[in-house]
Amino acid sequence: MEDRAEKIEQLRKDYLELNTYNRPTYCSECDGVMVFKGVGEYKCEKCGHVEYDDYGKVRNYIEKHHGATTAQASEATGVSQKSIRDMLKESRLEITTSSKTFLQCEMCGTSIRGGRLCPKCEVNYHRNLESQARMGHKGSFSGFSTQKPSGEDGSKRFTRER
Ligand SMILES: [Zn+2]
Ligand SMILES: [Zn+2]
Repeated sequence: MEDRAEKIEQLRKDYLELNTYNRPTYCSECDGVMVFKGVGEYKCEKCGHVEYDDYGKVRNYIEKHHGATTAQASEATGVSQKSIRDMLKESRLEITTSSKTFLQCEMCGTSIRGGRLCPKCEVNYHRNLESQARMGHKGSFSGFSTQKPSGEDGSKRFTRER
C-alpha cells in the first residue's frame, strides 16, 4: 500500500521535472506570486497581471488556429517544437477529440480527458506551489525546478490546504 502523501510527493517531483512548462512563479511586473487560474493561465495576486506558461501559450494559439502544425505553433509562441511534441505526447493538448480513451487522475481517480490530474487536483497542485513561492520569497529562492521539495513538512502542508 502506497502512502497518499508519498504518492503526492512523487507526483510533484515528476511534475517539477516534466510538466512545469516554464510556469511563471513570480510576476514580471511587481514580483508578486503568480496564481494558477486554469489551462496554463496565471494571474498575479498583487497587481492582476496575467501570464501564461508554455502550455497556455500553445493552447491559446491552437484554439485560434485550428489545424496549425507544431512548427507554426512553435514559431508563433516561442515554445520549442520539442516541448510542443511532449505536450502532445502527454495528451495535455486535446487537439484530437476523437479518442475515447479516458485516463484517471493520479490523485483522486476521477476520469479525465488528458494529462495526469483532474482540474481540481491540478489547481490544488498549483496552490501548493504558490504557498511555497510565498514562503520562498526571500532572496535565496532559485526556482522550483532545481529545488528539492522540503520533505515531510511540505507534504503535510499540501494535505492540509487541499
Ligand atoms: Zn504583479
Ligand atoms: Zn483528481
